[in-house]
Amino acid sequence: GSVLVWFRRDFRLQDHLALSEALTYCKKNKSELVFVFQLNRRFFQESENSLRLQYFMATVKDFGERCRKLGTELLIVEGDTDEAFQQVLKEHADAEAVFFNLDEAGYGKERDQKMRDWFKDREISVHSFQDAYIHGPNEVLKKDGSIYKVFAPYYKAWKQKDKPGVKKLSFDELGKYVRKTKQISKRAASEIEKLSGGSESMDWKIGEKAARSQLKHFIEQALANYPDGRNIPSVKGTSLMSRYLKTGTISPRTVFTAIAQADGEEDSKEAYIRELAFRDFYQMIYARHPETKNQEFLEAYRSIQWNQDDRMLQAWKEGNTGYPIVDAGMRQLNQEGWMHNRLRMITASFLTKDLMIDWRLGEEYFAAKLVDYDPGSNIGGWQWAASVGTDAVPYFRVFNPVTQSKRFDSDGEYIRKYVSELREVPSSYIHEPWKMSEEEQSKSSCMIGKDYPAPAVDHQEQRKKVINLFKNEK
Ligand code: FAD
Repeated sequence: GSVLVWFRRDFRLQDHLALSEALTYCKKNKSELVFVFQLNRRFFQESENSLRLQYFMATVKDFGERCRKLGTELLIVEGDTDEAFQQVLKEHADAEAVFFNLDEAGYGKERDQKMRDWFKDREISVHSFQDAYIHGPNEVLKKDGSIYKVFAPYYKAWKQKDKPGVKKLSFDELGKYVRKTKQISKRAASEIEKLSGGSESMDWKIGEKAARSQLKHFIEQALANYPDGRNIPSVKGTSLMSRYLKTGTISPRTVFTAIAQADGEEDSKEAYIRELAFRDFYQMIYARHPETKNQEFLEAYRSIQWNQDDRMLQAWKEGNTGYPIVDAGMRQLNQEGWMHNRLRMITASFLTKDLMIDWRLGEEYFAAKLVDYDPGSNIGGWQWAASVGTDAVPYFRVFNPVTQSKRFDSDGEYIRKYVSELREVPSSYIHEPWKMSEEEQSKSSCMIGKDYPAPAVDHQEQRKKVINLFKNEK
């Protein structure tokens, strides 16, 4: 018989729970592995041609090539989930089991529940695993079974739990158990090629090998200085693991284990591991409270009247607010499909506090753009910045974009990289170019209001307004 392994966002052949359990099953029952990916258009209705989609599909394509080296095809099937699997069963009628790594939140969770019954009706046994997080949304709970709503006590409990180890898989052994099969639909397979943009430009950042070598590079070059380096956007101080964790080209267990076993200061390792725990925490909040996609976690702030200002929203999206650090962040997002964490905090704060625009619109924009888009972390990050989430920054502590800029990009290196209009502006003005005299503007080929916008709002004024907005809700 055959055993289906259904890949969703776990495109790797190492440390993969569903795959290693499927292999064990095949060895015992003398079955063959059949790999499946469902091309589900509901995941990318609005974002065709986006870097986010291209990145994801390029990963799928790359994974397909790895499967071919193993001696099999990653079967690409299109359509609704049951329709898609109908096509698979037509070709592989001897399927006796299906293995996959669970989605525990949102649409994926509903689909998994539905498909569980669908497979059972066809006498196909279902085997699913929590693989995408170090500790899944049901694993770190208070004694009474309820969830932690504050990160610090969650983290304390998270740390105390035994950590799952890395599951080694042998490529040669997998090769012995895969079914030599043909693609079912040439059309669906060529869709992947098309959606990936056919671009090789992102090559180094895609796939299992790239993920591992980037992790190694980070550990050797940047881990020791992570607690400080992670805040400076002009240096390569963070691990860039998010895109690989999102597509599952590396497992969180592999990342955790490599960091925990690395040489070096405990403080640096701890600072990094804490961020991995944040990823689990935000996923748990989202899985347990899916309504937070659209609703503030904190009840007190659910009826805030946010500004409706399409022109300002657009300026923010394009990186034309007149605040250099904010604009640099947004332009990095638009150009690369990724933004440094410090900038995610600054730009999110600017949208919600300085422009007083609804955090949901920001969350949506990031969702469409980020190659590492993860609903739990994105919603968590946005609600944190907007002071409406679990553990959020208190509403009266409003990020000052100029102070942030001076502190974390003191020479303006990051700003100049993304905001070309400001390249010749001297460092003494790079954070507040509107303070240049006309002569200085002319000398640095940057006339404010012409080459680069004047500030969209006055930060000090907006700060008072937004504090009042929140105060009145209380
Ligand atoms: P590193 O600093 O190397 O961190 C290592 C890993 O820890 C990351 O890959 C990530 O998996 C996890 N991590 C780090 N910081 C956080 C955090 N604050 N919350 C949750 N997990 C974290 N992260 C996403 O993966 N997807 C998102 O859609 C996302 N949206 C965000 C939106 C906002 C408004 C904010 C403030 C943060 C958001 N983050 C998101 C968290 C964080 O910015 C990114 O995980 C990080 O920048 C990724 O880069 P890195 O892998 O180099 O991070």
